[in-house]
Amino acid sequence: MARYSDSVCRLCRREGMKLFLKGDRCFKDKCAIERRNYPPGQHGRRRSKLLGYGIQLREKQKVKRIYGLLESQFRLAFARANSRKGITGSNLLEELERRLDNVVYSLGFAASRAQARQLVRHGHVQINGKKVSIPSYRVSKGQVVAIKEKSRSNEQIKASVETARARGVPAWLDLTPENFSGSVVELPKREDIKLPIQEQLIVELYSK
Ligand code: SF4
Repeated sequence: MARYSDSVCRLCRREGMKLFLKGDRCFKDKCAIERRNYPPGQHGRRRSKLLGYGIQLREKQKVKRIYGLLESQFRLAFARANSRKGITGSNLLEELERRLDNVVYSLGFAASRAQARQLVRHGHVQINGKKVSIPSYRVSKGQVVAIKEKSRSNEQIKASVETARARGVPAWLDLTPENFSGSVVELPKREDIKLPIQEQLIVELYSK
């Protein structure tokens, strides 16, 4: 039985917030943080008193952890979002959603973004029939993301696909489970991203 002391969940406890690092489990009442009535960790109660800069910084750290990014990667994504037309915060989340590791997770080929990153790095993922092993690769409309044929018998991947059928995939992706593939029907929009993120706090942080 998974326990709250699992290393991944411990990270949530340390940060004092849900980081959604365990895939489906994070959305169920199995998540130990959900069972608490105040932020977890020994500093849980104190964290609730964070103000201004602290709250903004914490939101940035949360998004970094959720998508598994280094500081430099996050800054690059923000700069890209900031240079685009539209609302910078929404642009930022849309940029992050388009990452190949996130797409592999969203299509259900992996149980978490961390696992999806491993699949990509180990060469199990193809785009339009060609191997792409860069987790930060940004998918484009019309591309087809698939698990390469030889890897489709991988038990971990098969189990993830089964679980994902029940979870469903975001509207901007179209999954064909029997082919272990999914296409990018359109680019993600802010409303497609269901994670509880207050991206305007991050924009405020970078505006200082
Ligand atoms: Fe664990 Fe996910 Fe809950 Fe974090 S959000 S404590 S990773 S189950």
